[in-house]
Amino acid sequence: MNAPNLIIVGPQGSGKTTQAELLSKTFGFVLLGAGDVLREIAEEDTESGREVRQTITEGRLVEPELISKALKEKVATVSKDRGLILDGYPRSLSQYELFKRFWPETGRGNYHVMVIEVPEEEAIRRLTGRVTCENCGAVYTEGTLEKCAKCGGRLIKRPDDTPAAIRTRLQSFYSETVPMIQDMEADGKVSRIDGSLPVDDVHRKIVAAVGGGL
Ligand code: AMP
Repeated sequence: MNAPNLIIVGPQGSGKTTQAELLSKTFGFVLLGAGDVLREIAEEDTESGREVRQTITEGRLVEPELISKALKEKVATVSKDRGLILDGYPRSLSQYELFKRFWPETGRGNYHVMVIEVPEEEAIRRLTGRVTCENCGAVYTEGTLEKCAKCGGRLIKRPDDTPAAIRTRLQSFYSETVPMIQDMEADGKVSRIDGSLPVDDVHRKIVAAVGGGL
């Protein structure tokens, strides 16, 4: 049997990255975070490096072709006998179309989509109480740590983590990502998980949803 391939989807504040990291730690799956992959490219002294750097800094989304090519190349580096988790990609219909085009070439078999759902008010409550490492982008609950547990970087409150700005960002989830989820559902790939439960319960539900694959 092929190692499992999971795509974790959810609005900001749903806890999807926490779940992706937990799955990676528990089962040894390789975690590919779209934001991390792009930050790596942004450090390169190349034309696409500069382009990505500028796009991220301005808070825009990079072109679907660019992120899809970057993820395709990353997936190709992962051994087929290791499980894989994609976090933050694909996140729109056009990205999903590109994903479906390259996926068969990876030879990794089927993929499961875990949609982590939380009510909007809960997502806003979580996001307004979080801090981010200014160096590596890791996210923590405000007041729990002095500095980043991963790289020792300074923890800052993002200026765009205000309720109004968060609502605007959640809008893009509803307008861009929800139509993609409907497509994934039509493809028979989706399990919906209640993300308002405690972290361990959400984890157990994901494991149960993937079933024998883990
Ligand atoms: P994140 O670490 O997920 O907050 O992502 C950081 C930045 O990377 C975002 O603000 C976007 O500019 C870019 N980004 C992340 N994922 C994607 C994606 N799937 N498509 C396009 N741009 C993305």
